[in-house]
Amino acid sequence: MADLIARRRALLGPNVSTFYDDPVHIVRGEDVWMWDAEGRRYLDCYNNVPHVGHCNPRVVQAICRQAATLNTHTRYLHEGILDYVERLTATYDDPLKTAILTCTGSEANDIALRMAEAMTGKRGIIATDATYHGNTTLVSHLSKSNVPEVGFGLGQYVRHVEAPDSYRIPDPDGQRFAAKVQASIDDLDRDGIGFAALIVCPLFLNEGFPAQAEGWLRPAAEAVRRAGGLLICDEVQAGFGRCGSHFWGHQKQGVVPDIVTMGKPMGNGHPVAGLVTRPEIMARFRGSFRYFNTFGGNPVSCAAATAVLEELQEKDLQANAARIGRLAQERLSDLALRYEVIGDVRQSGMVFGAEFVLDRDSKAPAAAYADRAVNRMRQRGIILSKLGRHKNTLKIRPPMPFGEDHLDLLMTTLDAVLAETPVTA
Ligand code: PMP
Repeated sequence: MADLIARRRALLGPNVSTFYDDPVHIVRGEDVWMWDAEGRRYLDCYNNVPHVGHCNPRVVQAICRQAATLNTHTRYLHEGILDYVERLTATYDDPLKTAILTCTGSEANDIALRMAEAMTGKRGIIATDATYHGNTTLVSHLSKSNVPEVGFGLGQYVRHVEAPDSYRIPDPDGQRFAAKVQASIDDLDRDGIGFAALIVCPLFLNEGFPAQAEGWLRPAAEAVRRAGGLLICDEVQAGFGRCGSHFWGHQKQGVVPDIVTMGKPMGNGHPVAGLVTRPEIMARFRGSFRYFNTFGGNPVSCAAATAVLEELQEKDLQANAARIGRLAQERLSDLALRYEVIGDVRQSGMVFGAEFVLDRDSKAPAAAYADRAVNRMRQRGIILSKLGRHKNTLKIRPPMPFGEDHLDLLMTTLDAVLAETPVTA
């Protein structure tokens, strides 16, 4: 283990992050399970890349079959990308019927920002203050924690609004959030930059997945439209049925965005990502930029992505997400009756968790406690993580085939870890 860590540092450089104080050396995966080099099994409760399960046979076979037939760049005619985009856009509301396929979510968000500029002639972008949208020069400026010292001056075009925090700052109908968006629009206008787009993860998954009523994002979307800007929803984490009630997070939020970006789960680990948008936005973008992506939407990527959609639909994994999410909420709420450290329980289908607090009156975040709990879960063979605006929210986001037995093992283990971990700052 120490040898691998040293090689990683020497070959990949310092600060390449791994999970846990004691990183896991994973060598194999199947369904919701992973095995380390010593043959120890882990329950994967934190991975939305193998969305339909690790090494899902349908996806593996689709990749192998297409790789053995043809794989090349994207300048030839091929049915694979067309059949996939037809199938993908069928899951969207009108008028989101055209797509660009890329290799990463970052690229998709980068294109979305360029589309917003092409449509509005303006550059100002509004993002939430604890989010992450990717790693290109342009997109990295959307993360407050990520802004490099030398950034080509792009940071001046970004305004951050406070991410919603349903536990501490009630905003039941989204009006408070919409007012903050409006203030940032005014600020961009005052500074002579002008407003191009609001970009959000519709379920705010990096920010602690606050509890929100259906339609919560509508007032903010209205403010965006009034100002002539675009709404970009980043579904890289929220999409492909994860929230259970809807196939896309923005559908739960009651809005039809101008652009939706996708990634992580789309190819079950094969690097395929992309965006969908309205035909007139696509036409304007194609007219403004000469955009080409060598690998984006190649035949193997499309075979993988098609197999993911087939698997989701045939096994009705969205319904499974809704069912498991409800059960998880019940189990976590039961634990909250016994453990004061659980301040709030939240769930959005197959993403659920709890906010740890030092005491329930002050709601002071117990971030160090969350760290300890996550590391102890790893020691007991359960992979999950914590994050959120206050870095104290247990985030559990298993692959979509996660079942009741898996949930039971997860919750029984969490019970044991909460019992053995003293609550200290
Ligand atoms: N958007 C969100 C919400 C993400 O979580 C991520 C990745 N963590 C990205 C975009 C970037 O995707 P990628 O790493 O594929 O570029």
